[in-house]
Amino acid sequence: MQNNHFINLVRKTIKYLRWYPFRKFIYLYQTQVRRCKCCNKIPVIVSLDKGDETKRCIRCLANLRYEVIADYIHSKYKATIKDMSVLELDFNSPLQTFLKDAKEYVTTYYSDKDKLGTIKDGVRCEDVTKLTFEDNKFDMIISSEVLEHVCDLKKAFKESARVLKPGAVHIFSVPAGTGNTFKRSDWIDGKLNHFVEPEYHYDPLDKNGCLVYWNFGDDLGTYFGDASYDLSIIKGPFGKDRKYLIVLKKRDI
Ligand SMILES: [Zn+2]
Repeated sequence: MQNNHFINLVRKTIKYLRWYPFRKFIYLYQTQVRRCKCCNKIPVIVSLDKGDETKRCIRCLANLRYEVIADYIHSKYKATIKDMSVLELDFNSPLQTFLKDAKEYVTTYYSDKDKLGTIKDGVRCEDVTKLTFEDNKFDMIISSEVLEHVCDLKKAFKESARVLKPGAVHIFSVPAGTGNTFKRSDWIDGKLNHFVEPEYHYDPLDKNGCLVYWNFGDDLGTYFGDASYDLSIIKGPFGKDRKYLIVLKKRDI
Protein backbone atom coordinates (compact mmCIF):
# COMPACT_ATOMS: atom_id res chain seq x y z
CA MET A 1 0.00 0.00 0.00
CA GLN A 2 2.83 2.34 1.01
CA ASN A 3 4.61 1.30 -2.18
CA ASN A 4 1.53 2.12 -4.28
CA HIS A 5 1.35 5.54 -2.66
CA PHE A 6 5.01 6.20 -3.55
CA ILE A 7 4.58 5.06 -7.18
CA ASN A 8 1.45 7.19 -7.50
CA LEU A 9 3.32 10.20 -6.08
CA VAL A 10 6.21 9.73 -8.55
CA ARG A 11 3.75 9.46 -11.46
CA LYS A 12 1.90 12.60 -10.39
CA THR A 13 5.18 14.50 -9.93
CA ILE A 14 6.42 13.55 -13.41
CA LYS A 15 3.11 14.65 -15.00
CA TYR A 16 3.22 17.87 -13.00
CA LEU A 17 6.82 18.70 -13.95
CA ARG A 18 6.14 18.11 -17.65
CA TRP A 19 3.60 20.95 -17.58
CA TYR A 20 6.00 23.60 -16.23
CA PRO A 21 8.99 25.17 -17.99
CA PHE A 22 12.23 24.28 -16.22
CA ARG A 23 13.55 27.86 -16.43
CA LYS A 24 11.12 28.64 -13.59
CA PHE A 25 13.25 26.61 -11.19
CA ILE A 26 14.78 29.98 -10.17
CA TYR A 27 11.79 30.21 -7.81
CA LEU A 28 13.16 27.29 -5.81
CA TYR A 29 14.54 29.85 -3.34
CA GLN A 30 10.94 30.28 -2.02
CA THR A 31 10.90 26.62 -0.93
CA GLN A 32 9.88 26.13 2.71
CA VAL A 33 9.94 23.45 5.40
CA ARG A 34 6.71 23.69 7.41
CA ARG A 35 3.62 21.74 8.39
CA CYS A 36 1.33 21.00 5.45
CA LYS A 37 -2.31 21.70 6.36
CA CYS A 38 -3.45 18.94 4.01
CA CYS A 39 -1.37 15.87 5.00
CA ASN A 40 -0.49 17.33 8.44
CA LYS A 41 3.18 16.31 8.11
CA ILE A 42 6.24 18.58 8.03
CA PRO A 43 7.62 18.12 4.53
CA VAL A 44 9.29 20.46 2.07
CA ILE A 45 6.91 22.82 0.25
CA VAL A 46 8.82 23.11 -3.01
CA SER A 47 8.46 26.29 -5.08
CA LEU A 48 8.51 25.99 -8.88
CA ASP A 49 7.12 29.42 -9.79
CA LYS A 50 6.26 32.79 -8.28
CA GLY A 51 2.57 31.95 -7.69
CA ASP A 52 0.96 29.75 -5.04
CA GLU A 53 -0.29 27.15 -7.55
CA THR A 54 3.23 25.86 -7.98
CA LYS A 55 4.31 25.73 -4.34
CA ARG A 56 3.52 22.13 -3.47
CA CYS A 57 3.99 19.78 -0.56
CA ILE A 58 6.33 17.05 -1.79
CA ARG A 59 4.45 14.47 0.28
CA CYS A 60 0.83 15.00 -0.84
CA LEU A 61 1.30 17.62 -3.65
CA ALA A 62 -1.12 20.06 -1.99
CA ASN A 63 -0.74 23.72 -2.93
CA LEU A 64 -2.24 26.72 -1.13
CA ARG A 65 -5.83 26.24 -2.35
CA TYR A 66 -5.84 22.59 -1.30
CA GLU A 67 -4.34 23.50 2.07
CA VAL A 68 -7.09 26.11 2.56
CA ILE A 69 -9.81 23.57 1.69
CA ALA A 70 -8.17 20.92 3.91
CA ASP A 71 -7.86 23.38 6.80
CA TYR A 72 -11.57 24.21 6.53
CA ILE A 73 -12.59 20.53 6.42
CA HIS A 74 -10.29 19.67 9.35
CA SER A 75 -11.73 22.55 11.41
CA LYS A 76 -15.38 21.71 10.73
CA TYR A 77 -15.59 17.99 10.02
CA LYS A 78 -12.54 16.29 11.54
CA ALA A 79 -14.65 14.33 14.05
CA THR A 80 -17.48 13.49 11.65
CA ILE A 81 -15.74 12.78 8.33
CA LYS A 82 -15.62 9.05 9.09
CA ASP A 83 -19.44 9.01 8.98
CA MET A 84 -19.79 11.07 5.81
CA SER A 85 -20.35 10.24 2.14
CA VAL A 86 -18.05 12.50 0.16
CA LEU A 87 -17.97 13.24 -3.56
CA GLU A 88 -14.86 14.94 -4.92
CA LEU A 89 -14.95 16.15 -8.52
CA ASP A 90 -11.32 15.12 -9.04
CA PHE A 91 -9.52 11.79 -9.18
CA ASN A 92 -6.07 12.99 -8.28
CA SER A 93 -6.58 15.35 -5.40
CA PRO A 94 -4.17 15.79 -2.46
CA LEU A 95 -7.27 15.77 -0.21
CA GLN A 96 -7.46 12.01 -0.66
CA THR A 97 -4.73 11.72 2.02
CA PHE A 98 -7.48 12.19 4.64
CA LEU A 99 -10.78 11.92 2.68
CA LYS A 100 -10.12 8.22 2.17
CA ASP A 101 -11.10 7.89 5.86
CA ALA A 102 -14.66 9.00 5.03
CA LYS A 103 -17.44 6.38 5.16
CA GLU A 104 -17.65 6.70 1.39
CA TYR A 105 -15.28 8.66 -0.86
CA VAL A 106 -16.22 8.86 -4.53
CA THR A 107 -13.83 10.52 -6.98
CA THR A 108 -14.67 11.46 -10.56
CA TYR A 109 -13.16 12.42 -13.90
CA TYR A 110 -14.80 13.98 -16.94
CA SER A 111 -14.41 12.71 -20.47
CA ASP A 112 -16.82 13.12 -23.37
CA LYS A 113 -15.47 9.81 -24.73
CA ASP A 114 -16.80 7.68 -21.83
CA LYS A 115 -20.40 7.01 -20.89
CA LEU A 116 -21.39 8.89 -17.74
CA GLY A 117 -21.34 6.57 -14.72
CA THR A 118 -18.51 4.41 -16.15
CA ILE A 119 -16.01 3.37 -13.46
CA LYS A 120 -12.31 3.03 -14.43
CA ASP A 121 -9.73 2.07 -11.79
CA GLY A 122 -12.24 3.00 -9.10
CA VAL A 123 -12.85 6.48 -10.55
CA ARG A 124 -16.23 7.40 -12.01
CA CYS A 125 -16.90 9.39 -15.20
CA GLU A 126 -19.25 12.24 -14.28
CA ASP A 127 -20.45 15.54 -15.69
CA VAL A 128 -21.36 17.96 -12.87
CA THR A 129 -24.34 19.20 -14.92
CA LYS A 130 -25.67 15.63 -15.38
CA LEU A 131 -24.65 13.59 -12.33
CA THR A 132 -25.63 9.91 -12.38
CA PHE A 133 -26.08 9.60 -8.58
CA GLU A 134 -29.39 9.25 -6.80
CA ASP A 135 -30.99 12.17 -4.92
CA ASN A 136 -29.87 13.04 -1.35
CA LYS A 137 -26.80 10.75 -1.44
CA PHE A 138 -23.86 12.86 -0.27
CA ASP A 139 -22.93 14.80 2.88
CA MET A 140 -20.23 16.77 1.10
CA ILE A 141 -19.15 17.67 -2.44
CA ILE A 142 -15.70 19.12 -3.01
CA SER A 143 -14.35 20.76 -6.13
CA SER A 144 -11.23 22.83 -6.62
CA GLU A 145 -10.75 24.94 -9.74
CA VAL A 146 -13.55 23.09 -11.55
CA LEU A 147 -16.43 25.56 -11.81
CA GLU A 148 -14.62 28.07 -14.04
CA HIS A 149 -14.59 25.22 -16.59
CA VAL A 150 -18.36 24.62 -16.42
CA CYS A 151 -20.35 26.49 -19.08
CA ASP A 152 -23.79 26.10 -17.44
CA LEU A 153 -23.31 26.93 -13.74
CA LYS A 154 -27.06 26.97 -12.96
CA LYS A 155 -27.39 23.39 -14.15
CA ALA A 156 -24.31 22.36 -12.12
CA PHE A 157 -25.72 23.80 -8.87
CA LYS A 158 -29.14 22.27 -9.52
CA GLU A 159 -27.43 18.89 -9.85
CA SER A 160 -25.14 19.29 -6.83
CA ALA A 161 -28.16 20.30 -4.72
CA ARG A 162 -30.07 17.26 -5.97
CA VAL A 163 -27.43 14.73 -4.89
CA LEU A 164 -26.66 16.44 -1.54
CA LYS A 165 -28.63 15.62 1.59
CA PRO A 166 -30.48 18.52 3.28
CA GLY A 167 -27.95 20.43 5.41
CA ALA A 168 -25.02 19.00 3.39
CA VAL A 169 -22.35 21.17 1.78
CA HIS A 170 -20.65 21.87 -1.53
CA ILE A 171 -17.18 23.20 -0.70
CA PHE A 172 -15.19 24.67 -3.56
CA SER A 173 -12.39 26.97 -4.59
CA VAL A 174 -12.26 29.12 -7.72
CA PRO A 175 -9.79 31.68 -9.07
CA ALA A 176 -10.95 35.30 -9.37
CA GLY A 177 -9.62 38.38 -11.14
CA THR A 178 -9.93 41.95 -9.87
CA GLY A 179 -12.79 43.14 -12.11
CA ASN A 180 -16.37 41.90 -12.41
CA THR A 181 -17.28 38.37 -13.47
CA PHE A 182 -17.63 37.75 -17.20
CA LYS A 183 -18.01 34.79 -19.50
CA ARG A 184 -15.00 34.16 -21.74
CA SER A 185 -16.63 31.51 -23.92
CA ASP A 186 -20.15 30.16 -24.37
CA TRP A 187 -22.13 27.62 -26.39
CA ILE A 188 -24.78 29.41 -28.48
CA ASP A 189 -27.05 27.40 -30.82
CA GLY A 190 -24.67 24.43 -30.69
CA LYS A 191 -21.61 26.53 -31.55
CA LEU A 192 -18.78 27.45 -29.21
CA ASN A 193 -18.16 31.22 -29.20
CA HIS A 194 -15.07 32.87 -27.72
CA PHE A 195 -15.60 36.48 -26.58
CA VAL A 196 -11.94 36.86 -25.61
CA GLU A 197 -8.82 34.83 -26.38
CA PRO A 198 -9.61 31.23 -25.26
CA GLU A 199 -7.75 30.20 -22.14
CA TYR A 200 -6.95 26.63 -21.12
CA HIS A 201 -5.82 25.24 -17.78
CA TYR A 202 -3.78 22.12 -17.10
CA ASP A 203 -5.81 18.92 -17.52
CA PRO A 204 -4.09 15.61 -16.68
CA LEU A 205 -6.45 13.84 -19.14
CA ASP A 206 -6.11 16.21 -22.08
CA LYS A 207 -2.82 17.59 -23.40
CA ASN A 208 -4.73 20.53 -24.94
CA GLY A 209 -5.86 21.60 -21.48
CA CYS A 210 -9.34 22.43 -20.20
CA LEU A 211 -11.23 25.48 -21.55
CA VAL A 212 -11.99 28.28 -19.07
CA TYR A 213 -15.57 29.53 -19.57
CA TRP A 214 -15.68 31.99 -16.67
CA ASN A 215 -13.48 34.81 -15.42
CA PHE A 216 -14.80 35.27 -11.91
CA GLY A 217 -14.38 38.62 -10.17
CA ASP A 218 -14.99 39.87 -6.64
CA ASP A 219 -18.76 39.88 -7.39
CA LEU A 220 -18.58 36.09 -7.84
CA GLY A 221 -21.00 35.32 -4.97
CA THR A 222 -24.00 36.23 -7.15
CA TYR A 223 -23.07 33.51 -9.68
CA PHE A 224 -22.99 30.58 -7.25
CA GLY A 225 -25.76 28.43 -5.85
CA ASP A 226 -29.50 28.87 -6.18
CA ALA A 227 -32.58 28.97 -3.93
CA SER A 228 -31.65 25.51 -2.56
CA TYR A 229 -28.49 26.88 -0.96
CA ASP A 230 -27.10 29.30 1.62
CA LEU A 231 -23.79 30.71 0.41
CA SER A 232 -20.80 31.64 2.60
CA ILE A 233 -17.58 33.12 1.29
CA ILE A 234 -15.18 31.51 3.77
CA LYS A 235 -11.96 33.07 2.54
CA GLY A 236 -10.83 35.26 -0.31
CA PRO A 237 -9.32 36.63 -2.23
CA PHE A 238 -6.30 34.78 -0.83
CA GLY A 239 -2.79 34.18 -2.11
CA LYS A 240 -0.88 35.69 -5.00
CA ASP A 241 -3.18 33.90 -7.47
CA ARG A 242 -6.40 35.34 -5.90
CA LYS A 243 -8.53 32.34 -4.98
CA TYR A 244 -11.80 32.11 -3.07
CA LEU A 245 -13.05 29.36 -0.78
CA ILE A 246 -16.83 29.15 -0.88
CA VAL A 247 -19.32 26.91 0.89
CA LEU A 248 -22.87 26.28 -0.28
CA LYS A 249 -25.06 24.65 2.36
CA LYS A 250 -28.18 22.93 1.11
CA ARG A 251 -31.20 24.31 2.94
CA ASP A 252 -32.84 21.93 5.34
CA ILE A 253 -36.32 22.16 3.76
ZN1 LIG B 1 1.07 17.70 2.34
